[in-house]
Amino acid sequence: MVLKEKTIEKFYREIYKPAFSMEEFIDRMEGCFRGIAEELSLAKMECVLNAEKTMLRNPVVNGVKVFYDSYKPLGESFSMHYVNGDGSRLDILFYAEKGHVFTEEEKSCIPLISNPLYTILSYITIRNLLERAVNMDLAVGVSNLTAFDKHVDSLIQEKRIENYHAAYLNIHNFKYVNRVLTYHGGNEVLRIFAEEIQKSLRSDEMIARLGGDNFVVLVRNENVDDFCNLVRNIHIDYEQNEKRYQFELTVTMGVSHMQTVSDMGDIMLRVSVAYQKAREKKSGGFAFYTDEILQSVMKEKEIIACFERALAAKEFVVYYQPKIMTVGSIINGAEALVRWNKDGKVVSPGEFIPVLEKDGSVCKLDFYVLETVCQFLKELQDEGSPLIKISVNFSKCHMENESLAQDISDVINRYGIPHQYIEIELTESEDFDDYAVIARVVNSLRAEGIYTSIDDFGTGFSSLNLLRLIQVDLLKIDRAFIPMDEEFERRFRDLVMFKNIVRMAKELGIQIVAEGVETKEQYDYISTTGCDMIQGYYFDKPLPKDEFLKKLKIGKY
Ligand code: C2E
Ligand code: MG
Ligand code: MG
Repeated sequence: MVLKEKTIEKFYREIYKPAFSMEEFIDRMEGCFRGIAEELSLAKMECVLNAEKTMLRNPVVNGVKVFYDSYKPLGESFSMHYVNGDGSRLDILFYAEKGHVFTEEEKSCIPLISNPLYTILSYITIRNLLERAVNMDLAVGVSNLTAFDKHVDSLIQEKRIENYHAAYLNIHNFKYVNRVLTYHGGNEVLRIFAEEIQKSLRSDEMIARLGGDNFVVLVRNENVDDFCNLVRNIHIDYEQNEKRYQFELTVTMGVSHMQTVSDMGDIMLRVSVAYQKAREKKSGGFAFYTDEILQSVMKEKEIIACFERALAAKEFVVYYQPKIMTVGSIINGAEALVRWNKDGKVVSPGEFIPVLEKDGSVCKLDFYVLETVCQFLKELQDEGSPLIKISVNFSKCHMENESLAQDISDVINRYGIPHQYIEIELTESEDFDDYAVIARVVNSLRAEGIYTSIDDFGTGFSSLNLLRLIQVDLLKIDRAFIPMDEEFERRFRDLVMFKNIVRMAKELGIQIVAEGVETKEQYDYISTTGCDMIQGYYFDKPLPKDEFLKKLKIGKY
């Protein structure tokens, strides 16, 4: 009994000593098993779990070598079996060194080692299961953000993160898959999609699901091209209720290198910024992070964040650019153009209007400008001065507003201004092609007695179609069509086009304004074409209200 006492007692003593970490505990167990193996002439001790596949996919412990001396050939074996509460079975196998025959005493020792060994293994298994559950997206079967975060953190600690690229991706139009297959089938497709990517990754690379159809991926720098090629198109073949479905999944993706990133926040910021750029591309696809992209996105975010406060603080100021009759050089009207007095600087609309258009808040700004214009006209009216027509730019974002004409009319009425002194400029742009909607807006404004014009005429894709289908009051010919080119051939074409746009508009009963007239030569030519009005630096830039008032009092140039 000396052997039994020695080995088993030592074993128990070790188990019940407090350990400060799992690693310390396992380390100690290993040393302990080595001792036991020596005492019992064992070459190998192994535990095998026979469990069904679960949500966690592969059984967590399917074969653990508790001790294995690979130099020693295996001899006689002896096994113990334990059936777990969930029906899974744990086999603990002991192999003697080749040539050694277990003595009766050694055999009686084995169950005494197996029992605590079983307890330890159950503990380790549960711990591993829990860890896996914490680190995995159970519905789709890949890592979750927690695991990604940990992995990235260790790469940052080891100063190896710059060897990688990160990507944020969203499956294009996944709604469609969910609609066809419903929620469960949708998850299965996500699982196949993620597995397809997972299969292509090396052990130090990682895909994690963020939720929905959004994933983050970490790939080595040298594998980025292969990875991009793979996700360009992933073919899914899925069977549900004996019916086969095929999907070609494509993604929108933001990719970033990992130079100088210091934490997970940095990484997510870069990939999401690149992703935002990828989304803005009409064709979808990929975008790569650059510092310039980050700056422009931060600037946009700042504009959006400041907007409401700036509007309330009246930081937006309306300038007026005179419109002059070609015949007689009389000021016939003006265009209201907004500026932002931001931190002591005057910011031009080109910098903030496109941002506010994306965000939708330009609608509020346009109404603010309209109010300011009405206020100005009311001041003129109150002092008995003659009124002039002022045009206000209304962004295409208003097109969705079914009561736009009524809303505009309500503002004008509040100031008691006759409607014919307000003109609404609508912009022709490439995604402004729903003629039925534009026609509805134009017709309802006209019905209210409010003028409408098409701004930047000629720069959209279907200018002629627009003219064919919609009856507006005015066309503003874009600067691009004002003849100014030095090169003879192009100048000739500009002249012909300009002259004939004017002629066509006249025949259709539409007034014409030439925008962006800068030189005397341009002015002289335009005067010969029958164009009604001119707006441009040749006469004046957009002027602050008081300066404009002075010019208005004079009335002509
Ligand atoms: P737009 O409506 O086509 O306005 C004409 C732009 O051309 C103005 O630029 C004006 O200053 C500029 N311009 C006028 N004459 C000349 C010229 O001779 N030479 C040159 N190079 N430029 C000239 P601005 O004020 O910077 O406005 C830019 C654009 O911002 C406007 O183009 C309009 O689309 C938009 N915008 C301005 N104010 C508003 C607003 O209140 N609401 C909305 N939705 N958009 C606005
Ligand atoms: Mg305009
Ligand atoms: Mg224009």
